[in-house]
Amino acid sequence: MGFIEKVKGIFKRSDKAEAAPAPAKEAPAKEAVAKAAEFPADSPIDGYVPGLGAPPGGKINLAIYWAAACGGCDVSLLDTDEKILNVSDMSNIVMWPIAVDGKEKDIEAMEDGEITVAIINGAIRNSENEHMAKLLRKKSQILVSYGACACLGGSPALANLVPGGHKEIKDHVYSKVPSSANFLADSGKKIEDVMPRPVYEAPEGTLTLPVLYDTVKTLDQTVDVDYYIPGCPPTQKSIAQLLNALVGFVYKGEALPPKGTVIGVLAKSLCEECHRHKENRRITNVYEPHEVMNVDHDLCLLDQGILCLGAGTIAGCGAPCTKADQPCRGCYGPTQPVSEQGASIFTAIASLFPVQANDATMDEDDMDEIMSVINDPLGYFYAFSMSKSLIKRAVKEGGQ
Ligand code: SF4
Ligand code: SF4
Ligand code: SF4
Repeated sequence: MGFIEKVKGIFKRSDKAEAAPAPAKEAPAKEAVAKAAEFPADSPIDGYVPGLGAPPGGKINLAIYWAAACGGCDVSLLDTDEKILNVSDMSNIVMWPIAVDGKEKDIEAMEDGEITVAIINGAIRNSENEHMAKLLRKKSQILVSYGACACLGGSPALANLVPGGHKEIKDHVYSKVPSSANFLADSGKKIEDVMPRPVYEAPEGTLTLPVLYDTVKTLDQTVDVDYYIPGCPPTQKSIAQLLNALVGFVYKGEALPPKGTVIGVLAKSLCEECHRHKENRRITNVYEPHEVMNVDHDLCLLDQGILCLGAGTIAGCGAPCTKADQPCRGCYGPTQPVSEQGASIFTAIASLFPVQANDATMDEDDMDEIMSVINDPLGYFYAFSMSKSLIKRAVKEGGQ
């Protein structure tokens, strides 16, 4: 199937995707982005404050939790170097699964609102993620959605493109991938023998596993969110800005940014932050980055046929990828005026094909052939934002 047919198929499916379960709470992503200028990525940040000591009103309670995540966001929280010491001056860390021994029952025993700030990274993909997001929301005054997976769905949300949902995914993982298929063949076991069961009666009692959902959601499609920090993972500067705001709030009683603020972004597209100059050359071929020898370090990557998603991505990260001759993959999410990131990037790229009346040297078939090198257009254009897209998920014809 050619690229154009694939894209047509995608948008045909999108009608049905509307029938997917409605999110528990759809946060106003656009309004949130519109407030970004009030706390922009270029606002000054302080470094480590030596000898900060405990706040006058006592330490705040801080919780950090990872939902469907890779661990990179958790590690990035340590990227603030010695400023992390201010975190220990300022707070009791009541939960942080990779670092401290806080348990779910400890959080449940707390009063509502007893946690001052909870930072959650990762998408909401299973019943445990949802339960913990709801529990931490209930117990916390401020909830921060941290990283592309929590804010936009991120790479876990690409699972939404499997029409058969979690059953098809588990069937593939436990019986079709070569290592599983070989194991089943060699051991004589059946898939039922190796498939994880949500409930298992063991001699010691009933064991349960979290239930995997068909549709991966963002944090704000599950609970109310106060602040967003995008990125995969967020930059050191964004984290420092959050910590600065908390230090000002806890030690000096300074006002926090307005609810819904997206921390660390700029009200423009990544192209305006990128050092490369654009010539808006007509594209007659597209390439993977490794296919282009001698990349021009100053010319826009799109002008060189490398599919960069900067035009549909909000600025703030400092464009580290394009500085390193790699295209932007869009991890900061959509720009202010457009919330449909993949479609906006696709439109920007399509406008570079020489198909307009004044320079028409290509027809639809040529375009189709060129773009067919992208085997997974949704995965490319919505690599981070599937949960927030209009498409949201794929469904089977006549199915869910
Ligand atoms: S946003 Fe990136 S770094 Fe953070 S959990 Fe998701 S994949 Fe990992
Ligand atoms: S498309 Fe990419 S390389 Fe070109 S200016 Fe925009 S961010 Fe830079
Ligand atoms: S350049 Fe794009 S992919 Fe790279 S960090 Fe910035 S927003 Fe993310």
